[in-house]
Amino acid sequence: MKKLFVISGSSGVGKGTVIKEFLKKHPDFKLSVSCTTRSKREGEVNGVNYFFLTQKEFKKCIDNGEFLEWAEFSGNHYGTKKDFVESSLKNGENLILEIDTKGALNVKKLMPEAVLIFIAPPSLEELESRLRGRHTETEEAIQKRLASIKLELENSKHFDYEIINDTVDNAVNKLEEIICG
Ligand code: 5GP
Repeated sequence: MKKLFVISGSSGVGKGTVIKEFLKKHPDFKLSVSCTTRSKREGEVNGVNYFFLTQKEFKKCIDNGEFLEWAEFSGNHYGTKKDFVESSLKNGENLILEIDTKGALNVKKLMPEAVLIFIAPPSLEELESRLRGRHTETEEAIQKRLASIKLELENSKHFDYEIINDTVDNAVNKLEEIICG
């Protein structure tokens, strides 16, 4: 049985909600906690949503070879710690990584057994309106995110599966089919 699942999706596509619902139904799955240099959003908790690092701390982790993969996304750095993934898999845990498409393809190169799943928006217009509806980012940040969407859609062609997030229930059902068989 597969143990490592990597889920990517454009910003605002609702992948966080889909994953949260999946985890509620499948508590035997663990979500990897990444490191990031971006600032904390309201309600986010250090060590739960992310490990929030300074640029200097992040660079130190890169220099020490602590990341399985890392990427720059919208002007911030994000990375998955090697020891987090390795110890989870060694303990026989089922692990989900929620990372960007570039990071996902890097993980696949290092760990070909990883299953790559892309969560796509029903349409680009829908995605833009969801992104604006969050009211968590400046216009400049939103523009940056929209610009990266094209690249993500291109990268997603190399993924194992694609799920269209038309409704959360449908998307969770499809995710269960893929992961649980
Ligand atoms: P957000 O700032 O909205 O939490 O995340 C922005 C993007 O960074 C999302 O596409 C998310 O999946 C991605 N991301 C989060 N953690 C990591 C990571 O450890 N590595 C990579 N490559 N991307 C990540």
